[in-house]
Amino acid sequence: MDCIFCNIINGNIPSTKVYEDEFVTAFNDLNPQMPVHVLIVPKKHIASANDIDENDAELIGKVFLAAKKIAAQLCLENGYRIINNCGEDAGQTVKHLHFHLLGGKTMGDKII
Ligand code: 5GP
Ligand code: ZN
Repeated sequence: MDCIFCNIINGNIPSTKVYEDEFVTAFNDLNPQMPVHVLIVPKKHIASANDIDENDAELIGKVFLAAKKIAAQLCLENGYRIINNCGEDAGQTVKHLHFHLLGGKTMGDKII
């Protein structure tokens, strides 16, 4: 499948990995918007949050458990934000489910 993140997961496209376990990979965003900008990606190809099904419920929990570990590893004890863009209106550009983990400075520009 011609998917950038599947190719990062299988090593065909290089990335700076910050975390990996059986279910999840995380690597630095190519175009960081914050001092820490990591993409947390389930290894299973799921196109978007809209494509998560019942069988993926445990996997999504594992994403958030990974997020917590990565945040600790990257010293984000002051806090962080986790963002998922789902679909066109939200500006999703890569059609493989991923969560942006952002931190490293105070974020003033809350949308909600
Ligand atoms: P989206 O807009 O879909 O929520 O986020 C996609 C993210 O993937 C963007 O922040 C973009 O910078 C990042 N990205 C796109 N291509 C690559 C790549 O080849 N390597 C890495 N590390 N990040 C990428
Ligand atoms: Zn994929």
